[in-house]
Amino acid sequence: MYILAICAGFALFAVLMATGLLEDGSKPAYISYSEFMGMAEDGAVTGVTLRDGARFEFTDAEGAVWETDNPRNPLFKEALLTMGIAVEEDKSSSDLMSTVVTLLFFGFIFFFAIRMMNRNGGNKVMAMDVKDAAESGGTGIGFDDIAGNEEAKDSVTDVVDYIKDPGKFARYGARMPRGVIFYGPPGTGKTLMAKAVAGEAGVKFFAVSGSDFVQMYVGVGASRVRALFKKARESGRAVIFIDEIDALAKKRAAVPSGGTDERDQTLNALLTEMSGFTANDGIVVIAATNRLDTLDEALLRPGRFDRQVEIGLPDLNSRERILRLHSKNKPLADTIDIPGLARQTVYFSGAMLENLMNEAAITAARKGQGQICGEDVDEAYYSIVAGKAKKDRSAIRENERRVTAYHEAGHALAAKIRCPENTVAKVTIIPSTRGAGGFCLNIPPDKLFFTKTELESQVIVSLAGRAAEELVCGFDNITTGASGDLIQASNLTRDIIIKYGMSKSAGLAPADEDECRREQAGLLEQLYDEAKNLLGANEEALKRVANALLLKETISEGELDGLVAGRY
Ligand code: ATP
Repeated sequence: MYILAICAGFALFAVLMATGLLEDGSKPAYISYSEFMGMAEDGAVTGVTLRDGARFEFTDAEGAVWETDNPRNPLFKEALLTMGIAVEEDKSSSDLMSTVVTLLFFGFIFFFAIRMMNRNGGNKVMAMDVKDAAESGGTGIGFDDIAGNEEAKDSVTDVVDYIKDPGKFARYGARMPRGVIFYGPPGTGKTLMAKAVAGEAGVKFFAVSGSDFVQMYVGVGASRVRALFKKARESGRAVIFIDEIDALAKKRAAVPSGGTDERDQTLNALLTEMSGFTANDGIVVIAATNRLDTLDEALLRPGRFDRQVEIGLPDLNSRERILRLHSKNKPLADTIDIPGLARQTVYFSGAMLENLMNEAAITAARKGQGQICGEDVDEAYYSIVAGKAKKDRSAIRENERRVTAYHEAGHALAAKIRCPENTVAKVTIIPSTRGAGGFCLNIPPDKLFFTKTELESQVIVSLAGRAAEELVCGFDNITTGASGDLIQASNLTRDIIIKYGMSKSAGLAPADEDECRREQAGLLEQLYDEAKNLLGANEEALKRVANALLLKETISEGELDGLVAGRY
């Protein structure tokens, strides 16, 4: 309220000054502009004082001062001068006005800046979105709500015990971690795990994002940190969760110039608050990041975030458990093969799996058929991996369908021959809304390592679409449809040479950029030739698959196997 009053006072003062109401002295008498002109033409005006306002003043031959309407015409001054009238320009009121406005402007900025900087540790975390559990009984989420991630659960069980009974650990002289970092790819359940720690311990959960602390004004982030910890302390034992910690704790070199002061101050405030915990506090800070290696080492020193827990992508068993967990409240048809779906979802995160079941439920609800059936799950699955199927396909020309059919058949056949462990779940020439002409869903097996031959086979599968186009339509008719495949092939060949050091001639740690490029170009060429040879040697099978695609638009793995083996 009092800010409003101050602002209103300033504004009123400015208006009064500008309108001249605060000026001393009586105002001159008014006469009309036409009367003024008459007097000027009669030589009865001796001087005029022009100003920016709606009126101006003039002096008559007897020395009396009058005022009249200002025509605000750029030629007015010249006209007066040619009539022999002395003209004086008075900028004082507009100067005053602009000074007042400027003062007001800077006054406001200064006022708000001071206000922001001084609010260190008020009751609220300044305008920051702190999502805390409403009940002191915790988040209502426990370890049972997390499928898989068993190692991570094990790593935080003692943290839960510590929050529940900090004294127990203090009696043994054990120093519990004040901070825990969860790291892993997006959507793997880091936030969920942090909530479960608070839920299991039955304490409040304060969630903020690292980016909330990084502000334009130096000192604001640090104040926010202090306010957050104050709030957590007030509620006794608690879990403070800082998502995207890298926003405020990136390694120095990784931070672009500018803004480092603010970041440093915020980080220091965080470390100071953490070092202020005593053994019996029962407050634990959990931070999450997608990349542990980008964090400032200062954060990871003992006594700070000295426990780091990886939360990775789920393996086959975990995927099955996550799918089952998120199917619990849904009317799933008995025919849905959850283990099969888990096999198809290599590299899916927990969030993607949850999204898959949710999308399937939405599709089923829209149809109103009472149950979620295989078709709904399939539709959701393909829309997640490839985008939604384009409904209107009337504009696609026959020649484009044919090229697409051979392109996809090329990928499918190469995958079947070179990567027998892969699942080719579906091949289609139905374009997707994401712009693909069609796709061949080629899923690698869950494996810890890949051999050089396996990696090269993956490159061959990527290049086989373009190879099929060239084989069937000729080099002059190859299309732009292979652009995504070429990026994939190029990235993988680069990894083979540089990341995995698998090139004999370039060696284990190739450093010369030019040599790497030559090596990569050579490998791509060699693998492209292999793709062409493979398809050339199996041209009949390629034709069978392409023709089936032209006829049916989509074929399943079973049909593909039959076509490759020559059974259909
Ligand atoms: P980000 O790095 O993008 O912030 P995150 O790792 O914090 O993501 P969460 O936000 O915790 O991921 O996960 C999103 C959702 O995915 C959860 O709310 C949950 O529905 C689901 N989920 C993720 N992992 C699991 C899991 N292991 N078990 C059950 N559900 C999971």
